[in-house]
Order: sequence, then C-alpha cells, then structure tokens
Amino acid sequence: MLGLMQDYPLLTHTILDHAALNHGEREQVTRSVEGPIRSTTLAQIRTRALKVAKALAGEGVSLGDRIATMAWNTDRHLETWFGIMGNGAICHTLNPRLFADQLDYIVNHAEDDIMFVDLTFVPLVEALQNRFGTVRKYIVLTDSEHMPETSLPGAVAYEDWIAAVDDDFAWGDFDENTAAALCYTSGTTGNPKGVLYSHRSNVLHGLTVNQPDVFGLTSEDVIMAIVPMFHANAWALTYAAPAAGAKLVMPGAGMDGKSIYELLENEKVTATAAVPTVWLGLLQYLDETGKKLPYLQKVVIGGAACPPMMIRRFELDFDVEVIHGWGMTEMSPVGTTGKLKHATLNLDREARLKLKEKQGRTPYLVEMKIVGDDGKELPRDGKVFGHLLVRGPAVSKSYFKLDQDILTADGWFDTGDIATIDSLGFMQITDRDKDVIKSGGEWISSIEIENEAVGCPGVAEAAVIGLPHPKWSERPLLLVIREVGSDIDKEAVLVYLDGKIAKWWMPDDVVFVDEIPHTATGKIQKMTLREQFKDFEFGD
Ligand code: ADP
Repeated sequence: MLGLMQDYPLLTHTILDHAALNHGEREQVTRSVEGPIRSTTLAQIRTRALKVAKALAGEGVSLGDRIATMAWNTDRHLETWFGIMGNGAICHTLNPRLFADQLDYIVNHAEDDIMFVDLTFVPLVEALQNRFGTVRKYIVLTDSEHMPETSLPGAVAYEDWIAAVDDDFAWGDFDENTAAALCYTSGTTGNPKGVLYSHRSNVLHGLTVNQPDVFGLTSEDVIMAIVPMFHANAWALTYAAPAAGAKLVMPGAGMDGKSIYELLENEKVTATAAVPTVWLGLLQYLDETGKKLPYLQKVVIGGAACPPMMIRRFELDFDVEVIHGWGMTEMSPVGTTGKLKHATLNLDREARLKLKEKQGRTPYLVEMKIVGDDGKELPRDGKVFGHLLVRGPAVSKSYFKLDQDILTADGWFDTGDIATIDSLGFMQITDRDKDVIKSGGEWISSIEIENEAVGCPGVAEAAVIGLPHPKWSERPLLLVIREVGSDIDKEAVLVYLDGKIAKWWMPDDVVFVDEIPHTATGKIQKMTLREQFKDFEFGD
C-alpha cells in the first residue's frame, strides 16, 4: 500500500522560491570581479534567475542541454546556476584551474552548448575557443561598461543579455530525478569523469549539510562560501544558505588573506568554509596585522587533511570552532564532518583537539563502512584501516556517458580512500588506496607521516611515497621542502619523527626537493613523484 501524501518533486528552484517568499529581503553580498562589493537580495536573485531561465529558453536551450559556467562565487554565478537548472538544462561548472587539455576534454565530452564566463577567464577561454567545438555562444558575466573586446563567438555582456527579457517565466516542470548539474573530477588518473547530479540529490544534499552538527545555518547566520562553486558545488552551501534564509557572502576572485579578512569583518560573517590553503593565507594575514576574528563562530575545513596546527590556531588563538570535513565530487560532496558530540563532552582539551584531526562522522543520509581487500566489513575500533565505502541519495552510481555501474555488488561506492572508523563513528582518512605504502604485508599511512613531518621546525612541506623494496615490497621515502633560510638535514628530520610514528613507519630515506607537484585542486601528485623517483635506491 502506498502512502497518501502529495507528489512534490524535489527541484532545486523550489529552494529559491521558498527563499524569495520567506526571506526575500535577506541580503546577499559579493566581491564583484570588477572590484566593488555588490549587494543584492534573495528576492532579486530569484527574479534574475528566472530571467536567465527565460533567456536560455529564447536561445533554444531546453531539458538536458549542458550549459557551462567558468566563474568565481558571485551573485551572477548564483543566478546563472539556478536559472540553468530551473530551465531544465544542466549546469556544468568548469574548474578554471584545470590544465588546457583537461578543459578541452571536459567541454567536448559534456558537449557544452553555451558558456557563461567571468571576466578573469576570458583570455583563457579565448585561447581555447577553437578547441571548444560545441560551444556556440559565450555570455560574459559583466555589464556593457566592463565588457572587453573579445573574439569569442556570440559574445554578449550578461547584464545586456538578461535585460532583453522579463521574469515572466514558469520554472520547468519535470521529474525530480532529472539531471541538474555536472561536475568533472580532476582525474588524477586517466581522463576526468563526469559526476551528474539530479535535482533530487542536490535538494537532499542541501538539507543534509544543513543539519545542526554539519553547517547548521539559520536565518540569522552570515555564511561566506569560499569553497568554489566550480569545485564540488561549494559544498552545497548554495542550496543550504537560501533554504535557511542565511546571508550568503561570495568572495569572487579575492581569495587572498586580506580580501577574505575584509569580508569576514565587514559583513560580520558567522560561518565559513574552505580548503586548508585558503586558511594558511588568512592566518598569515592575521599574524602580520595582529587582527582578530570577533564575529566568526565556526569554520569548516576540508577537501584535504586539515593540519593539526590549523585546528589549534583557530580554536585556541581565535576562539573559532573548527569543523573538519571530508568528501568528494562523487558525494555531492560532503561525506563527514567532525563536530564533537555529546559522548565527547568529558574529554580534556588536548583529547578534544586530537579528535578534531579526524575527518568526522556522517550526517543522516550518508552511510559509510570500511572493508578489507576481500570486501568483508572491518571493525569500528579506530585502529584497523580499510577501504572506505559509502552510499546515500547524493552519492554517484555511474559516470556521465560511461554507461557502467561503478558500485560494489551490494550497492556501495568505493571512495578510493583508506580509513579507520572509531566506536563513536569518527572516521579518519589514513591514505588514498593508491598511495598507502604496503610494507611487509602491513599498511603504512603516507598522510600520517606527512602530517608529523610538517610539524618539524624547518620543514615547509612534506610528501611521502612508497617505493619498491626487495625485502619489504615497499618502503616510505620522505620528500621535504625546506623553509626559507633553514638548513635542516636528514638526521634532524628523523630524530624529530622518532617516537611520533611507529618505528617500522620511519622513512627509509629523506630527500630535499625544491618543489612538490600539486593537482589543480591542491592535492599532492604522488603518481608524478613515484615516476620521478622510480630509479631511486634506498641506502643501507
Ligand atoms: P578531485 O580533487 O580529484 O576532483 P575531490 O575534490 O572530489 O576530487 O577530492 C576527493 C578526495 O579528497 C577524497 O577522496 C580524499 O582523498 C581527499 N579529501 C577530501 N577531504 C579530505 C580531508 N578532510 N582529509 C583528507 N583527505 C581529504
């Protein structure tokens, strides 16, 4: 017997309708790409998103067409994003930090029809336009005053383009499982893969991340989404914030410490989210200027392991709660967040800070487990580590146009991460499965050694890779970039690590390098390093 409740499809534009009706006056603030701070409201965002949807319809765009954006987090990008989805088309966010060949592959694979592009990226797109064979029109996210001379086909200033239509448009009416957005993984191995979100998965994920122990936003909050919309959907804040009626602050191209601080201070931001490198910039700025963070209550840090030092600085020096998060493009992207819970209230300060180094627990609507190489579930004891598998309504089951199921036989997605889960449900990433070092039948976590090594005075950055070893199968090699002015040597690093990691985890050698390669999303390129050091021989 079926229930007798209404059939109310979960469509992303229903979020904007709700926001405009109930929080229409709520201010939304952007550092514009042109420079000045710009202020709008949720009601205006909706009106202009309707115009985008209508103007797209006028261009012949309809259900399932891929419309690309290459843009910073701004009000115009937000309008575009909701307008594309509300039209029924698919919003394909492009990461401008990808290499030219990856962008070429992605745009052609997606068969993008129209591209919205920020002023910053016009030269980049101009250089690639001949390779973007399917794109017939470029809309530059600016006004006529700032519109550059450009060779892009059909180029028009966004403000002129939407001024030509009114907002008298009915959002598309379609099934909630209709594709809404497309985002490619950066493809550290092989070609990038397209993750295709649905309206339903986006709405559910927006609600998922706004549970009290995750972002927990209310209409009183001011949330600055620093994590880009082009990198895993700004961690779903673009849904969570309007649904809650929060004030959303969008930093545009200003990602340096000073620009971030100005917005935090002037807009009285209460919560924010970004990857660790952004916070390094802010902390440096705070140190240089002696400024404090009087309004900020919590900061969500994820996308890469949050260094223990960063947790301490925010919590102890600035009285800001750190919530460590983990996730991935295929998970929409949030998988876990590390807010402490009732059972941890009696822990002392050191133990609480230590627990925050873990990547955290799953919110409702994400499930996770760890399994061994044989696929059997491993205990949640915080010690044993295994392959981390997940499932939920906002987790991928297949990639765009690849036409193959990517789940295990019992329906779980293998994240490619190796982790422990403790009895309280806190997960800790120990490595990527490709990077974990298999020594004498046991696993060594390269990340854990790196985390300890960067704490060593004189070490600016560290990377650990496993290299073949005749006796142990693989052994760890530690690569270090020295801090400017430091002359730290191998012995000093090893003495520092002694006692901090298990004896058999001690790197067999330490090599000092000038550079450690990173992917477009800031991750260490261990494949490149393994290739670079493939002929390296460990001494005795
Ligand atoms: P890509 O950068 O390749 O596009 P994602 O941005 O989806 O992919 O990155 C997902 C991966 O990033 C995770 O599988 C994990 O390895 C890593 N990651 C994300 N957050 C954390 C974290 N807090 N700690 C450690 N690793 C993390």
